[in-house]
Amino acid sequence: MLQPARKILTNVFISAEGNKLKLVDIIFDDRIKQVVPLLNSQTEWSEISNKEKLKAFIEKLPPISQYRNSKIYDGNFLFLMPGAIDPHVHFNTPGFEFRDDFKHASTAAAYGGVTTVIDMPCTSIPPVTSVENLNIKLSALEGKSLVDYCLWGGISGNDFDEQKDLKMQVDELVKAGVAGFKTYLISGMDSFRDLTPERLLIAAEYVKELNKPIAVHAEDKNRINTRSQKLIANGETGWKAFVKARDSEAEARAISTLIEIASKCDCRFHIVHLSSKAGLELIRKAKAEALKFSTETCPHYLAFTQNDFNDKIISNYLKTSPPVKTDVDKKALWEGLRDGTISFVTTDHAGCNPAVEKSSKNFWEVYSGIPGVEHRVPFLLSEGFLKGRLTLEQTVKLLSTNASEYFGIVDKGSLDVGKDADFALINMWSSEKIKSNNMHSKGKYTPFEGREFSAIVEQTFLRGRVIMDRRNELEEQVCFGEYIKI
Ligand SMILES: [Zn+2]
Repeated sequence: MLQPARKILTNVFISAEGNKLKLVDIIFDDRIKQVVPLLNSQTEWSEISNKEKLKAFIEKLPPISQYRNSKIYDGNFLFLMPGAIDPHVHFNTPGFEFRDDFKHASTAAAYGGVTTVIDMPCTSIPPVTSVENLNIKLSALEGKSLVDYCLWGGISGNDFDEQKDLKMQVDELVKAGVAGFKTYLISGMDSFRDLTPERLLIAAEYVKELNKPIAVHAEDKNRINTRSQKLIANGETGWKAFVKARDSEAEARAISTLIEIASKCDCRFHIVHLSSKAGLELIRKAKAEALKFSTETCPHYLAFTQNDFNDKIISNYLKTSPPVKTDVDKKALWEGLRDGTISFVTTDHAGCNPAVEKSSKNFWEVYSGIPGVEHRVPFLLSEGFLKGRLTLEQTVKLLSTNASEYFGIVDKGSLDVGKDADFALINMWSSEKIKSNNMHSKGKYTPFEGREFSAIVEQTFLRGRVIMDRRNELEEQVCFGEYIKI
């Protein structure tokens, strides 16, 4: 049988200005061919914001268009956004598959409406600090991913110690298409050690000519080590000791260090997983002074505070570095999303086997990381847009468009004609409780356990093909995710 000439996703609402939506059909193959408006006017969310209103709205619609010779996907008057992009994940292939792997984590991504991830270089063995290592990772990932992937390169203290030709490594990695370079001012990994501020300045000099960002884990090493050692010597092993050591001041000091470096070297700096108001204010000021600063935050910093460590069920699951802060910080981060100081929401997806690495009674020994890639889109639509903290337009930008623009992932991040047909079809008229048993990453645990989100990802399309259908389990999950060179 001949393949139908084209595919059509009918009756979907897409985001327009503010909280307005457009009802459209989308014609596509592996790319978007045409976006056909079904109405002359846009629709305010408030007109369709519950099931009754939506039903009444649909009843008043003019007759619906008929298509011939097409494969039709019924969008069922759900919300359609460009496939989400998560620019900060640790999927752990190759080398740390005992925690998570690309097959599991990319399946979780598809279930979370994510069609492109940017995977970190430090949680691979070998770490992606040279083009040889990048190629080892690329062959390990072949045929293992449901979603498209870009890769971060990295610059580690190890390579400085071993006197590698860093300039050459950076040049080659940029030619090979990495998104940017990850660095740490404090690292817990022997295979990817942190940089001193002096070394970070040297690294920034190499990177700045190539117009790629340097991503920095920004917490002050001296402060954290001094305080940790003291607390441990006093026999303090609970969460309170951990958050005392890794406080807001630690983040603020590291960002101040970065601002100093940036004033000497005009490189693009991106502060990952921002957790504090103090850090946010420094970044806002740096941006106002035209330094090339950007930042991201994660759902856990927007949803939890240190009080939540008192909840014994989620306490260990919630541990990340940096840790979540206070209510004041949480509110400031939402404000940072609203005013554009924070460019996108990422997950810092980092899972493990919770029975092994999230079970210690000594909080210092508990693994830091949350496998969050599956929950980010429902979280931000539900807690951001539907609770009135963000407009729908802002929410879509924070989940997809801003990352495509910042990193230059040109075929992704929008529903414009010519872009990849990457879609997330979302039901915002129904809600669901998060249950770790239903998760698709290898490690099944989450501090969001039991929280209810009013946005359910029903279907995900990658370059025109359905990669996830919540209602109809796909016969086989085809891993046709590709490496996207930037
Ligand atoms: Zn990370």
